[in-house]
Amino acid sequence: QKCLSLIKKTKFLNAYITVSEEVALKQAEESEKRYKNGQSLGDLDGIPIAVKDNFSTSGIETTCASNMLKGYIPPYNATVVQKLLDQGALLMGKTNLDEFAMGSGSTDGVFGPVKNPWSYSKQYREKRKQNPHSENEDSDWLITGGSSGGSAAAVSAFTCYAALGSDTGGSTRNPAAHCGLVGFKPSYGLVSRHGLIPLVNSMDVPGILTRCVNDAAIVLGALAGPDPRDSTTVHEPISKPFMLPSLADVSKLCIGIPKEYLVPELSSEVQSLWSKAADLFESEGAKVIEVSLPHTSYSIVCYHVLCTSEVASNMARFDGLQYGHRCDIDVSTEAMYAATRREGFNDVVRGRILSGNFFLLKENYENYFVKAQKVRRLIANDFVNAFNSGVDVLLTPTTLSEAVPYLEFIKEDNRTRSAQDDIFTQAVNMAGLPAVSIPVALSNQGLPIGLQFIGRAFCDQQLLTVAKWFE
Ligand code: GLN
Repeated sequence: QKCLSLIKKTKFLNAYITVSEEVALKQAEESEKRYKNGQSLGDLDGIPIAVKDNFSTSGIETTCASNMLKGYIPPYNATVVQKLLDQGALLMGKTNLDEFAMGSGSTDGVFGPVKNPWSYSKQYREKRKQNPHSENEDSDWLITGGSSGGSAAAVSAFTCYAALGSDTGGSTRNPAAHCGLVGFKPSYGLVSRHGLIPLVNSMDVPGILTRCVNDAAIVLGALAGPDPRDSTTVHEPISKPFMLPSLADVSKLCIGIPKEYLVPELSSEVQSLWSKAADLFESEGAKVIEVSLPHTSYSIVCYHVLCTSEVASNMARFDGLQYGHRCDIDVSTEAMYAATRREGFNDVVRGRILSGNFFLLKENYENYFVKAQKVRRLIANDFVNAFNSGVDVLLTPTTLSEAVPYLEFIKEDNRTRSAQDDIFTQAVNMAGLPAVSIPVALSNQGLPIGLQFIGRAFCDQQLLTVAKWFE
């Protein structure tokens, strides 16, 4: 009830696309009954959780924040949603995002941008008042980052205890950093993608947003495991319940600092927190070494070629026949397809479909798509080499800076800006590794700053243990 009333009070944040109040209340009642009857309880029994609106939910509208899927009601639950429900979680609603999860701001969905709850903190407001250039209060708010910004705002505003995001190039970790949360991207293959409407199948992973590392571990424990409906899931043994040691020993760890991540665009505040974090590990006896990930500078373009190519192919299913929107034009099938897709998709999605189809043209395929696949392997091998040299965990920034005001964010070319923002997160998806962003401090402006830990593939438990120690 408390969470539902907070959802109403914070409606102006635009965190939710759909609030599933009735479902949540009914589940809460059932959970209470189980508790009172002394029945065994699931790991998430009675816990309010929100889900990004690109996960299929049986009987509940699933839009991907796109005109294309407005009104689409899936007949089944994504595996991760089903697992949450099986463990007793209460489904609070579906959260806002960039259309089809393409973006880094949560500003590009058809339901409008998500506002960062930190925009309204006392400290930030005071600071803004001192700034003579500050806009009036109504328009002066910060982006959440994205694309899982609705999930981040929902957890950050206390309307739920955890939320599912998706992470293809940083979409869980980026908004977590901007909203002062833990944002965890599990190893590719550890958690099923069945029912997650795809952006880039070879990089998509369901992500977890929580207020502390332990909560993320508990949710991971409920979600992880092989799924016959997702052939890329692996039979990796994972202990259940998934517990983290309360007192970790980091003194035997080797922490790697990738030198290529010290980019000129990195804000001085983030940079100084990054080096302070490294010092802290050193003072606890850990070995901190500089490592090289030499192909880092290719990662953004490489991601772009691969992402748009997979997008071009994935989006082909939205043709006006099978799902969601269909235009009124019926002079020919081609005209119907074209008009449906023009009306259904925003500029970002259409732009990516066009780029992807260009890269996949017969005459371009070898030069772009195949080459990008090779570069992807080099990028992934950089990480393998770092871990083979003895590094246990990499420590990096998550984002270039703290959250920026919306009006500033939309001033620049949004797509270029989004691309730059993902510099620390995208390579991890191309390599399939686990990574977690955790909040470390407030900036001078009073806004949260996150740092990222990256682990070896399927060493998610070790990664979260280190993050919890640091937290
Ligand atoms: N910002 C990246 C993109 O726009 C990543 C998005 C994501 O992780 N879903 O593609």
